[in-house]
Amino acid sequence: MERTFIMVKPDGVQRNIVGDVVTRFEKKGFQLVGAKLMNVSEDLAKEHYKEHKEKPFFGELVDFITSSPVFAMVWEGENAVTVARKMLGKTNPAEAEVGTIRGDYGLQVAKNVVHGSDSNESATREISLFFNESELVNYTKLINDWVY
Ligand code: ADP
Ligand code: MG
Repeated sequence: MERTFIMVKPDGVQRNIVGDVVTRFEKKGFQLVGAKLMNVSEDLAKEHYKEHKEKPFFGELVDFITSSPVFAMVWEGENAVTVARKMLGKTNPAEAEVGTIRGDYGLQVAKNVVHGSDSNESATREISLFFNESELVNYTKLINDWVY
């Protein structure tokens, strides 16, 4: 089973979209492993987005993600990383398909509602940046092959 790190960004929290994001992941069939509302420190923001540190929008990105709380989550399930990215939609909400989270709720690339890990390596790194092992809950759901 794969795990992925999903975060409702400050715009999504401020606009009351947390519940819808959680509902979409639940209904898709993923299992919630951990979740918390939190403020992102400048250090954490810079580490999380370090692949973008040379980009012109890096300062704006760090300022935004630290400006107001985020809702951080870990979701588990088959192909969680790839499927979650599809559910998020393209980075720029103006180009994201209707039916995706960004396509349904966003307008601007800098305020695109959600983050999702782009690979298994990123997921492992991001989960460990945002969560302690003790905050991740392993449990068995009463499921079978077709109730999920
Ligand atoms: P994704 O979040 O889809 O993985 P990236 O990793 O390329 O996208 O970028 C990280 C975040 O930086 C994006 O989600 C978006 O909020 C922001 N961003 C990307 N490109 C721009 C841009 N040209 N101007 C402002 N912000 C941007
Ligand atoms: Mg990315």
